[in-house]
Amino acid sequence: MAEASEARALYSPQERLRRDQSVWTLVQGILAPLQFLVFVVSLVLVLRYFYRAEGFEVATYSVLVKTGLLYLIMLTGAIWEKAVFGQYLFAPAFFWEDLVSMLVIALHSLYLWVWWQGLWPERMQLGLALAAYWLRERGQHEVFCGLTGIMWLHRKMQDAFFLIVGSRTCAHLMQSAAGVMIFAEPRFATAIIEERDLAGLADANDELDRVASALIARRPDIKLLFLVGSCPSEVIKLDLSRAAQRLDQRFQDRLRVLAYSGSGIETSFTQGEDACLAALVPQMPPREASEPANLLVVGTLADVVEDQMRRHFAALGIEHLDFFPGRRGLDLAAVGSQTKLLLAQPFLAESLRLLQARGASHLPAAFPLGAQGSLAWYKAAAEAFGIAKAKQEAVLKPLVERAEVSLQRHHQTLAGKRVFFFPDSQLEPALARFLYQEMGMQLTEVGTPYLHSAIMQAELEALPATVCLSEGQDVERQLDRCLAAEVDLAVCGLGLANPLEAKGISTKWSIELVFTPIQGFEQAADLAGLFSRPLERRELLS
Ligand code: SF4
Repeated sequence: MAEASEARALYSPQERLRRDQSVWTLVQGILAPLQFLVFVVSLVLVLRYFYRAEGFEVATYSVLVKTGLLYLIMLTGAIWEKAVFGQYLFAPAFFWEDLVSMLVIALHSLYLWVWWQGLWPERMQLGLALAAYWLRERGQHEVFCGLTGIMWLHRKMQDAFFLIVGSRTCAHLMQSAAGVMIFAEPRFATAIIEERDLAGLADANDELDRVASALIARRPDIKLLFLVGSCPSEVIKLDLSRAAQRLDQRFQDRLRVLAYSGSGIETSFTQGEDACLAALVPQMPPREASEPANLLVVGTLADVVEDQMRRHFAALGIEHLDFFPGRRGLDLAAVGSQTKLLLAQPFLAESLRLLQARGASHLPAAFPLGAQGSLAWYKAAAEAFGIAKAKQEAVLKPLVERAEVSLQRHHQTLAGKRVFFFPDSQLEPALARFLYQEMGMQLTEVGTPYLHSAIMQAELEALPATVCLSEGQDVERQLDRCLAAEVDLAVCGLGLANPLEAKGISTKWSIELVFTPIQGFEQAADLAGLFSRPLERRELLS
């Protein structure tokens, strides 16, 4: 027993004597509470930054001071252990404590390196110090409806028809989104759920079958019919997938019928496209492993942009190229383990997941916005297909140079101006990177409704360390931060434009950015123009 208790004692009598006589014991006694105090203050400052999005510098300094003290206490502790136990570190009595300290020091050293290199955005830097990541707003999403996606989807898939199963509100929204466009043969419409359906007095399925059958009989040009769910159809639990299956079977010789939800309760307006493409993925034929690898560009692009991209990929030597969606809804590429996919839009997380489940591999890259974004995007594909560097250079360099020349005029207007992004479309990190990297703008906050770090990694890495990145929405707090930041331009949803303009801040609606062809080298100047024009207009007015 005596031996056992001796084995458990922290110090032998000689070690205890040496401890009491060593000056390093006093040094440790002073440094330990000081370090704890600095730790508490630093934790408060870092938390304050995450909750109120202010005080990045002071929080960073506090982490640096804390790290410095950690090194100091480790160094003096090693000298103290040598004086007391005869070895610099890992004396048996302090083995586990030293091991944990080493891990803590390693984490802080990693933080120091990240801070020194300035590689990560500020939230990720402090997130490393806190083991958190970025500001997450938990307020109500002020979103625009996902039905909006039909506006660009119906232009792309020219044999598809979108039948919204919704209310008069949905019909009005689509009418205003369509603006003054009047089609002789429109390719979307709303089957309005009447009060009788809502009250359960009529069988909504029968009504839907009747409306869909009449439409199919009248429009032989339709080859793909989407039944698009809305808030009202979801409220009355109308099962549109079943309805689509039923109609698909009935009209299988004539056309395909699919369903997806465009309901706008908690989605960003761009997610309507994601839901639509996700409904199409199971229809894509399989690609055999023996077939040559193909490049699949995913995301709706204007035809003119698709044609430009086809030319550039052909010049690079990538032969097997497909776009999803194509110009005809059922012209679907085969997909399999030989498929390498490049996202043209960042808001397609669900489609990406389903394509990966079919064996496709994602090529992570910046998005093709601006000269540098487009360069990185094409390069990601070229590298994946083993295109020689010299070939890449020969094809892409002239395109970059031309795009950069076209951007110069806008650079003069935008450089040095301060911009704030409200969360709306999920394009925000990519747009922010373009404005910062190529237009010399100062980013204050980049808000985005949902942040998929696997999709956005390349964009996040290119953002400056000082930017505040926020995910989710809390409109009041974001408005306060925008006003406090004294910005020149805010990129926002339709609803925020008026209050911001009234405060003298130029605005750009994010929905316009999605409606306009902005991808690729040739569109770089048009993209910059969308941001520079509001500022030029304000200058003219003042
Ligand atoms: Fe409004 Fe919902 Fe209809 Fe969209 S789907 S217009 S959010 S009711």
